Amino acid sequence: MKKSSKKIGLERIKILFNEAEENEEYADRYVFLARKIAMRYNLKIPTKFKRKYCHHCYKYFYPKRYKVRTNPKTKAVEYTCQVCQNVTRFGYRNESK
Ligand SMILES: [Zn+2]
Repeated sequence: MKKSSKKIGLERIKILFNEAEENEEYADRYVFLARKIAMRYNLKIPTKFKRKYCHHCYKYFYPKRYKVRTNPKTKAVEYTCQVCQNVTRFGYRNESK
């Protein structure tokens, strides 16, 4: 796999997440597509985008679909998905950018 194609893949993921933000109706589909691209190009989805969807049912987290709270014990922000009721945790200890 060439480096340039990875770059293209990443670019597409960015576009998809930007679109998802604008367009709630298709947001879930954009998450699905972004994950597919990530798999195909063997990419990691950037952290800032990873936080935008449920890691259990892969629904896009648009407002009203999730609840956020911080958990000082695990040093994580917990996103409770209102669709599947699962909790997705993101650590804030090594927060950067
Ligand atoms: Zn979910």
